[in-house]
Amino acid sequence: MALENYIRDIQDFPKPGIGFKDITPLLGNPDAVKECMQLLLNSLKDKNIDKVVGVESRGFFFATLLAYELNVGFVPVRKPNKLPYETISSSYELEYGMDTLEVHIDGIKKGDRVLIHDDVLATGGTAAAVCELVEKLGGEIVQCNFLMELSFLNGRNKISKYDIYSPLVY
Ligand code: AMP
Repeated sequence: MALENYIRDIQDFPKPGIGFKDITPLLGNPDAVKECMQLLLNSLKDKNIDKVVGVESRGFFFATLLAYELNVGFVPVRKPNKLPYETISSSYELEYGMDTLEVHIDGIKKGDRVLIHDDVLATGGTAAAVCELVEKLGGEIVQCNFLMELSFLNGRNKISKYDIYSPLVY
């Protein structure tokens, strides 16, 4: 199955100059979702993951599916003031602006083997901030995976010390 057929390009969203990768056609097609899950899970064989961290908001879809399939807990990383309990935070630069992310202090335990998932790796700022949060809590990052990678933005450089996997590369 050609997964790229289920990714819709929206020009100038949410701002002029941004080529937005819309994953809703993929989410709406169970065969495409299954294919993505198989590819992601194949890359995680024998990795002994303890927690899956998903990034608000489009990272949540596949992060929860992956956590369910791996039979481990899901941990949400969210935008500021969304999480109700005590948090730690990390600020980062986005392809379109500046933002902060937070995680609950008890989301990850020292020594947990962590998978980080988001929908798109663009400049890598988001993923690097999430890695920082996980490591602040003592987690060991086993892999960062994405549905797709915009390789022309060189996001890999910001998280080059980790294992990275994306079924789709643009
Ligand atoms: P970055 O921090 O630049 O790697 O951006 C990654 C985050 O921004 C992810 O959470 C994506 O959901 C979102 N994002 C960045 N660029 C795009 C894009 N072109 N299309 C869709 N989402 C994007």
